[in-house]
Amino acid sequence: MTFSPELFATTAVRGGVAPDPATGAVLTPIYQSTTYHQEAVGVHKGFTYSRAANPTVSALEAALGALEDTPSAVCFATGMAAISTLFLALLKAGDHVVVSDVVYGGTVRLFQQVLGNFGVEASFVDTSDADVVAKAIRPNTRLIFIETPANPTLKLTDIAAVAQVAHVAGVRLVVDNTFLTPIAQRPLELGADITLLSTTKYIEGHNSTVGGSIATHDEGLLERLRLVRKTLGCIQSPQEAWLTLRGLKTLPLRLQRHSANAQSVAEWLEQHPKVARVHYPGLAGFPQFALAQKQQSLPGGMLAFELKGGAEAGIQLMNTVRLCLLAENLGAVETLITHPVSMTHSDVPRGIREHTGITDGLVRLSVGLENPADIIADLDAALAAIPVSAGTPEVEPCLAK
Ligand code: PLP
Repeated sequence: MTFSPELFATTAVRGGVAPDPATGAVLTPIYQSTTYHQEAVGVHKGFTYSRAANPTVSALEAALGALEDTPSAVCFATGMAAISTLFLALLKAGDHVVVSDVVYGGTVRLFQQVLGNFGVEASFVDTSDADVVAKAIRPNTRLIFIETPANPTLKLTDIAAVAQVAHVAGVRLVVDNTFLTPIAQRPLELGADITLLSTTKYIEGHNSTVGGSIATHDEGLLERLRLVRKTLGCIQSPQEAWLTLRGLKTLPLRLQRHSANAQSVAEWLEQHPKVARVHYPGLAGFPQFALAQKQQSLPGGMLAFELKGGAEAGIQLMNTVRLCLLAENLGAVETLITHPVSMTHSDVPRGIREHTGITDGLVRLSVGLENPADIIADLDAALAAIPVSAGTPEVEPCLAK
């Protein structure tokens, strides 16, 4: 990979923001104000009402834009608010979207339980194969939406290859870059048109907020997103924006340590006799290891694994760990262990889950910043408590190529 996380260290700490001009405060204050005094009718300082724009949120947008190397990003109350606003801004009844078959469960739910009611169609396909993507494009396809690495199986999509397919067809490519952030993967430089982040995860990084952002070089689209956000009423709040701005400053450092810790845990899990398979882009045996090396500067802090004892053993493990916290969310300092089938992907139809390797026994681990030896000791103790005969091994799932 041609860039390293250190390249972005200065931008993460200082990019897009300057000391407050009114007071010299080094950190942009939390502008906890609904409205703004206007000197005369039509004369104001760019802020009128905090559903449209807020100075603390604008500071976060400038900082994220600096990191993405785009104009200011557009920030939202949650990652799902960002995804929903993007689709409502760009799609109309009769339009079609090609979506990665492995994506965050909320994105699947949005298409299947909400957008479908408005006549928007989606095809969930294996975007790890650019030919499959090309074949899924129809005359009414407006967007290709990919997530790489994908939640929860870590399947990768070759961003440059799919960008080429998209542009030949005159379709925009959107990349959900939540798992790696612009520190470790640069979708816009690989040809994507739009990048999206759940800032809830690594960007803020401390399990303290929910938020989302969208970045693009397309000024017209940014304008449209601000209009739709103001209309829907889903802007980020100033308090959350401030916490996110603070978290952002340590992102390069954290992501490097998250990755190093995840690498240690993945290598340890891989050699454990009770573990059937480990999905982690940093392992030489990962089916898309070469692609990870090509388009990512770090393997990331997320991994998933299955036990030889199948679902029963996996669930027992998740109920037994002590340091690893059984919870939803990812990308924060605490190690979180998640059961995708009952938590993050519970609304994904079983047929899609089984086809894409989201088995009942899949365990997702967001490796935190604790001492990796302690994380391993916790997993070791939990695995030791599982009888060798627990459960029956699952059918070989269809996993990433
Ligand atoms: N994108 C990905 C890859 C996610 O994992 C999530 C949530 O887990 C989201 C988007 C949605 O973000 P939020 O929970 O901030 O709405």
